Amino acid sequence: MTEQKKLNIYQKLLEVRWSVDHLKKNNKGYEYSYVSSSQTISALRQKMNEEGLLLVPQVNSYEVRENIIEKEYKGNIKKTKWYFTILNMSFTWVNVEYPTEVLICPWTGQGLDTGEKGVGKALTYAEKYFLLKFFNIPTDKDDPDAHQEPSNQEQQFERCPNCGGELYLREVKKAGKNQGKKFVACSNYPKCDYSCWDIDKHKKGGK
Ligand SMILES: [Zn+2]
Repeated sequence: MTEQKKLNIYQKLLEVRWSVDHLKKNNKGYEYSYVSSSQTISALRQKMNEEGLLLVPQVNSYEVRENIIEKEYKGNIKKTKWYFTILNMSFTWVNVEYPTEVLICPWTGQGLDTGEKGVGKALTYAEKYFLLKFFNIPTDKDDPDAHQEPSNQEQQFERCPNCGGELYLREVKKAGKNQGKKFVACSNYPKCDYSCWDIDKHKKGGK
């Protein structure tokens, strides 16, 4: 009597993880980029279907913060209202062959939008990053550190007076009377929009 061996939820998840390693081998020497993480996710979905795994997202609570961001545009101050959505979520893996076999993973999602799409963006973001992180897929291009100024520049300033974040030196890039002028700005932008022309005031050990 030969019965087809059924896999438990962890064995199935490992099978899905293996399929990512195979994908990596096929793309030898290929750096992961935004596009290839989308490709990876579609490959993951296909493998999840084959294995009989469901991924159920659930929003347990949420928070929406309103932020007014002021930007100088052609000499005028332009105000834009942004909505920052934070979702406290969980993703639950379900083994379809044994639906009582589940694995619950708490997770959060964040989305920033000027309109009503904050929740949708947060859900999309949360699912994408859950899959990438759950299966340990590198996301170097999305590494927040990649967008920061070098740390020696951050170190020379006091903390942001609004939020306590790092301040760093920036330069006006837009053409106009202020082009090339230096200022300090908060690294938590756009969550915090603190910026100041008086660089010396924010230097460590300054006035
Ligand atoms: Zn700040």
